[in-house]
Amino acid sequence: NKKVIFKDYVSGFPKESNMVVTIDENLKLKVTGDSKNILVKNHYLSCDPYMRLLMKNQSTEIFDPYTPGAPITGLGVSKVIDSRNPELKEGDLFWGITGWEEYSLLKSSEGLLTIQLLVNFYFYKMIKGMPGLTAYGGFYEVCAPKKGEYVFVSAASGAVGQLVGQFAKLMGCYVVGSAGTQDKVELLKNKFGFDDAFNYKEEPDLNAAVKRYFPEGIDIYFENVGGKMLDAVLLNMRVRGLIAVCGMISQYNCDQPEGVHNLMSIVYKRVRIEGFAVADYYPQYSKFLDFILPYIREGKIKYVEDIVEGLENGPTALIGLFNGRNVGKQVVVVASQ
Ligand code: NDP
Repeated sequence: NKKVIFKDYVSGFPKESNMVVTIDENLKLKVTGDSKNILVKNHYLSCDPYMRLLMKNQSTEIFDPYTPGAPITGLGVSKVIDSRNPELKEGDLFWGITGWEEYSLLKSSEGLLTIQLLVNFYFYKMIKGMPGLTAYGGFYEVCAPKKGEYVFVSAASGAVGQLVGQFAKLMGCYVVGSAGTQDKVELLKNKFGFDDAFNYKEEPDLNAAVKRYFPEGIDIYFENVGGKMLDAVLLNMRVRGLIAVCGMISQYNCDQPEGVHNLMSIVYKRVRIEGFAVADYYPQYSKFLDFILPYIREGKIKYVEDIVEGLENGPTALIGLFNGRNVGKQVVVVASQ
């Protein structure tokens, strides 16, 4: 059973050597132990920015850190091989938290969402999986957008951002995205239908850049990166605008988060800032599927994913999220169907 073991807590930019690929020869393809246990074969693993936060020795209201010496965990699409749990039977497919290993013994079925292969396996990592639900809950529930509003999305070509931009267009908003390469900027404009986009790495003055694209200010900022971009956005919000905080990836490798300087804009502009977690929307998963499936069938929602083959290449793929190596949703194929 090949596994990716978390070596020890990480400081600064993560390295491949923080994760060790090992082979455990003691694989039993039968469930052992507790009556709730489920043995699964992992097919696809999702690389998600929050996984870097689990590499810090810090618990939060949402998650606990990884255990040094144990396999790292993350969202996966997996198949049940053997089960003593009444909720899942042999052959069932699901997405949920699993180990970065070929086979995992899961202790309960809590949080595992069974799936049917209506479209394509990959979709559960992306549109129909966690990033899709994040974009859906974050945009429709937290942002509560109205037609014609000015929307800005950072990390816009990524798994969540590309969907938020398309949802904003479906709503009739004006939407601009930022991303870290010219190719990603083209993708935003030409594939995902953003009204405009810019490469934040080529902008010496982010405040001036945001102002250029939003001369009349931003109604909704879908925050994925934090740091300097948040500072620039705060100066360019409209009065009573909303910042929906999905994540702040620019801060995940900082041992001490960067300071944000323009916080008084929250007062001057009466800005509302609201954070959210995708777990809040798990109860709405079937409502989300009812919403998204027709758009998928009609080809009205586009998606781009970045597929890496082989569990042993997982650590490099995961680290790539933090230098923008991925183009779209980063997935690791452990075993195809
Ligand atoms: P992406 O697919 O967008 O991948 C991460 C991207 O972030 C990279 O490709 C890179 O793109 C960009 N990035 C990396 N470092 C920086 C940096 N220092 N400054 C600016 N951009 C950077 O990831 P996701 O779509 O999965 O996640 C996007 C955000 O949403 C993250 O903050 C994540 O934590 C958050 N999230 C929150 C959830 C929640 O429940 N609240 C659930 C899921 C995600 P580029 O080339 O453009 O720099």
